[in-house]
Amino acid sequence: MASTLDRSAVQSRVNVWKMAQEQLDDVARLIGLDEGVHAYLREAKRVLQVSVPVRMDDGRLQMFEGFRVQHNMSRGPGKGGIRFHPDVTLDEVKALAMWMTWKCALVNIPFGGAKGGVICDPKAMSERELERLTRRFTSEISIIIGPEKDIPAPDVYTTPQIMAWIMDTFSMQHGYSVAGVVTGKPVSIGGSLGRDKATARGCLYVVDEAMREIGKERSGARVAVQGFGNAGMHAADLMDAAGYQIVAVSDSRGGVANDAGLDIEGLIAYKARTGSVVGFKGGEALDNKAVLEYDCDVLVPAALEKVITPENAPRVRAKIIAEAANGPTLPDADDILYDRGIMVLPDILANAGGVTVSYFEWVQDLQNNFWEEDEINDRLRRKMVRAFTETLEAAKHHRVNMRRGAYAVAIDRVAEATMSRGLYP
Ligand code: NAD
Repeated sequence: MASTLDRSAVQSRVNVWKMAQEQLDDVARLIGLDEGVHAYLREAKRVLQVSVPVRMDDGRLQMFEGFRVQHNMSRGPGKGGIRFHPDVTLDEVKALAMWMTWKCALVNIPFGGAKGGVICDPKAMSERELERLTRRFTSEISIIIGPEKDIPAPDVYTTPQIMAWIMDTFSMQHGYSVAGVVTGKPVSIGGSLGRDKATARGCLYVVDEAMREIGKERSGARVAVQGFGNAGMHAADLMDAAGYQIVAVSDSRGGVANDAGLDIEGLIAYKARTGSVVGFKGGEALDNKAVLEYDCDVLVPAALEKVITPENAPRVRAKIIAEAANGPTLPDADDILYDRGIMVLPDILANAGGVTVSYFEWVQDLQNNFWEEDEINDRLRRKMVRAFTETLEAAKHHRVNMRRGAYAVAIDRVAEATMSRGLYP
């Protein structure tokens, strides 16, 4: 599969790791961060690059390249997903690891930031090939992961089944079941209730808060969603159930729109049957870039990064952008959106529900004590609302946008932990 993300010249020029570092630099100036701590936080603590040999179904041996990056672990073990995608780069994984550090700090869970990725095309691989790839990759990175060290989770094109293979491989190597080595597992092997929808549910909770803040009713508010995978599909589903009206969605192959509101249940069933939202009869066909500029109140980018650019930002019509995806907005686009009065709920806030319930899963695994779904959702809501409120307060205090506000809260927490621990040796 060639990458289906349409990358414009602007997008491809941007190095996402440099972008993540510049976001840090920007907020370091804003909060007067100590120079030494700033230099420390600018770099990843540890980068592991591995070669992964896999026997393919036709008997060939194929080599894959994979990464696990740990950005900062001052506040606890590393935490972050593993991405299987043809466009994965080391710089992308480093950026995603840094964003995980800020995200965990913002929702105040005791984890540092990490991320992993394998350059591969999962859509062109059989289930058996994916299992062999996952198991060998897990074995290669097992020297740095573990329940007290670094705990992977799902990300783009990785699933609960893949998490189960990671857990099983690590457990086989240790001679006993180690459920806490990975989150996003199936419930039957220590996964948490509510984890599958947690990213989307967290996103819904902060959108609700943002709607209240800008004085808009959620009932009938129009929503457009880019990406119809774990984050995007569940966001559309939960927002639909909460009274929002989903008017446009897209996936890698294209989109569909209906101004009277899409039948989300029907669309989910259609996607499960056909593999895409394209061709769904309950709406008009839509170009998957056009979804970003669709007439709506809330835009939820839930696919890949760098999709909102200085080029399309002036045409965005939403009043709130909730970044379910990581890094969907380029920094220059951020400024344009802020000047236009559009409230951007940054990725480290809007999609932090996933890592929050991952934290709950890890806690449950360590205690062998599993909670009811209502309790999980209630704890999640409290964490998300608190993070939203702290972000808004910081944004107002510094007179900046919500992203800078969220970074100010998060970087301050990580810096405090880093300074409290001091330097070894
Ligand atoms: P996923 O693999 O389940 O879904 C990705 C979706 O994006 C698919 O529907 C795919 O078709 C679509 N897509 C790809 N290219 C597209 C394009 N050009 N236009 C429109 N759609 C396109 O992945 P996911 O887990 O939902 O992750 C999506 C984003 O959310 C990523 O940025 C990820 O880092 C972020 N995220 C996910 C979680 C989680 O818990 N799953 C948590 C935090 C952040």
